[in-house]
Amino acid sequence: MTASLDEPLDSPVADSVVNDGCHGGAATMRAAAVAAGKSDVLDQYAADYPVGPHDRPQSMCPAFGSLRVGLRMRRTATVLSGSACCVYGLTFTSHFYGAKRTVGYVPFNSETLVTGKLFEDIRDAVHALADPVLYDAIVVTNLCVPTASGVPLRLLPKEINGVRIIGIDVPGFGIPTHAEAKDVLAGAMLAFARREAENGPVQAPRGGVSDRPAVTLLGEMFPADPVGIGRMLEPMGLAAGPVVPTREWRELYAALDGVAVAAIHPFYTASVREFQAAGRPIVGSAPVGVEGTLAWLDAIGTAAGVPRALITEAQNRQLGAIRGALAGAPVKGRITVSGYEGSELLVARLLVESGAEVPYVGTACPRTPWSEADRDFLEARGTKVVFRASLESDIAAFLEHDPDLAIGTTPVVQKAKERATPALYFTNLISARPLFGAAGAGSLAHVINGAIANKDRFARMEAFFDGVGEGDTAGVWEEKPEPRPAFREANRRRLEKQAKARRAEEMI
Ligand code: SF4
Repeated sequence: MTASLDEPLDSPVADSVVNDGCHGGAATMRAAAVAAGKSDVLDQYAADYPVGPHDRPQSMCPAFGSLRVGLRMRRTATVLSGSACCVYGLTFTSHFYGAKRTVGYVPFNSETLVTGKLFEDIRDAVHALADPVLYDAIVVTNLCVPTASGVPLRLLPKEINGVRIIGIDVPGFGIPTHAEAKDVLAGAMLAFARREAENGPVQAPRGGVSDRPAVTLLGEMFPADPVGIGRMLEPMGLAAGPVVPTREWRELYAALDGVAVAAIHPFYTASVREFQAAGRPIVGSAPVGVEGTLAWLDAIGTAAGVPRALITEAQNRQLGAIRGALAGAPVKGRITVSGYEGSELLVARLLVESGAEVPYVGTACPRTPWSEADRDFLEARGTKVVFRASLESDIAAFLEHDPDLAIGTTPVVQKAKERATPALYFTNLISARPLFGAAGAGSLAHVINGAIANKDRFARMEAFFDGVGEGDTAGVWEEKPEPRPAFREANRRRLEKQAKARRAEEMI
């Protein structure tokens, strides 16, 4: 069944979604979305973002990724369609991360959802917003419940008063990480811009068209990194092009026009599809460390048709500076790395070249052709690389390797600190600094060595707080809490019995 304005969303599964909301579970939500005509979208997501062993978000709501991409773009309005609790969480997080922009919201109730009125409300909201003086584009995002109910954003007008309308579904039961949700929006925008470019002249970038062939950079990165990459490309007669996700609509055309695309973050599958459709060669990995930089310059130069002598010159110019930076800022110690940004393997490569022992790298992102070189490099040096790593896998690796420093997500860092091991948040402290070329080598060593040197302070803190309680006994109590294993066991049995009864009822 295809949902449309003429076909109210009244399937029994859709009813269950409305009644149970997010508590209906991923399988129920997925079944509802399929019944409501979203199977093509979900099939595409399943192909682009393969799951396993970790098959669902274990960090923030994935929609935060696409929301952030839209909120960082000039002249772009953002509208969410989803449960109020999800929208509250998403807007809270986006403002926590400094978005100084309004997030539009079209609320719904059971009636507007099942009768199709929600779609009409969204369409009215988009018409009211579409002011070409203010906006180039409006991004409308279906969260879990409207996706599961088949709210048909594809039926929105493609353009109103010259303002593009981009409707995307970003459900937690179809997109495994917030990183990949960035690709959902970037890919949808590139597809739109590619069609525009095919149909006639388009706007030039704000700073004018590059006088040298430019390399498009795929993946959010530290602002100084594209500048450094531009310098590395100079001897080959190339320039650093736009970074995708872009900060403005018109940059999309320049991105599609690049002589080659550097998939610095390897999980942008939908975006890569658009670049390939535009005939652009894709190069994986990144200019990280000595070996990574040499290989990357070679691959980029070859993809762009640069003469061998110029490629060698570009390599030689970098070689000395990066070797010097690595030698001047060595990293000593055993480090486990985990995160959900997609640059985990690159960070691990740099650590290895800096002298660190890295026994484990876990990334919540999937394995793709664009991370193969990094995986090969790390595995050849004894690092265990886990794609779609679960939190359980990251913590097990931390416990197994007992590192001098754990780089990871919030719960991994928390676990490490509980055990008096220095730890750094990947997202805030590692991915928010330069990584490439000589600048990356020096910068990473500084923060890593500073953290490892804190071991004694952690040990002193652990000794100071010894005996204050942990797990069930943590907190402030008038009397020391007594664990009651018998109560817990009785409770577990009761819950098990209830679940069994529920399953039996479902089978009738
Ligand atoms: S949109 Fe889905 S994944 Fe995101 S918070 Fe809501 S229920 Fe969770």
